[in-house]
Amino acid sequence: MEVFTIRNLTFAYPEQEKHALSDLTLSVQPGEFLVLCGPSGCGKSTLLRQLKTVLAPHGRRSGEILFDGRNLDSLDQREQAEKIGVVRQSTENQIVTDKVWHELAFGLESLGYDTPTIRRRVAEMASFFGIQEWFYRPVTELSGGQKQLLNLAAVMAMQPDLLVLDEPTSQLDPLAAGDFLGTLRKINAELGTTILLIEHRLEEVLAYADRVLVM
Ligand code: ADP
Repeated sequence: MEVFTIRNLTFAYPEQEKHALSDLTLSVQPGEFLVLCGPSGCGKSTLLRQLKTVLAPHGRRSGEILFDGRNLDSLDQREQAEKIGVVRQSTENQIVTDKVWHELAFGLESLGYDTPTIRRRVAEMASFFGIQEWFYRPVTELSGGQKQLLNLAAVMAMQPDLLVLDEPTSQLDPLAAGDFLGTLRKINAELGTTILLIEHRLEEVLAYADRVLVM
């Protein structure tokens, strides 16, 4: 079954006559790596934000979004928090705790997981992302690239089915950006997570995208 399906989605921001999204249809299979591109202002972020209710902007919407065969709005906050992981542009605004290890544990703590499960998942993520060396550091000592990897690892600790990323490398230098995109590829290949990525460094991601969506 599709991870998610969008049918005839049309969306307009409040008091805007022009639609930001117009009759958009898309379905995505488990394990797909999708890259979403198009000129600035064409609606990429607006589309991505429709995929999680807490992020969805106010406005007039018609059409349907199904996640795992169910209407997205019928999935409660908890289910969406676990199954749909989001990484955004800013390396700073997403971090909520002061220590690397705590940041990795935070999402699972808020969902009420037991301590042994949290410990195991956090250790697995630290190893997968190669962040054992900075595990006990304060997040303020991390570079931008490390912060964004930490954001990604913290999201992946929840073991989401779908990972959506809105220009996650836009504030990173080329080396850190390459690292980040390589890690995404590894997540997709080794963990099978479905990925929808807005990215302008196309020359790097085209090699491993299953599909490129142009808006
Ligand atoms: P992209 O991500 O492709 O750059 P956006 O989804 O950010 O595009 O924006 C799509 C269109 O919607 C643009 O014309 C933008 O100006 C408009 N827009 C974005 N956010 C808002 C908002 N909060 N209110 C009104 N219009 C908006």
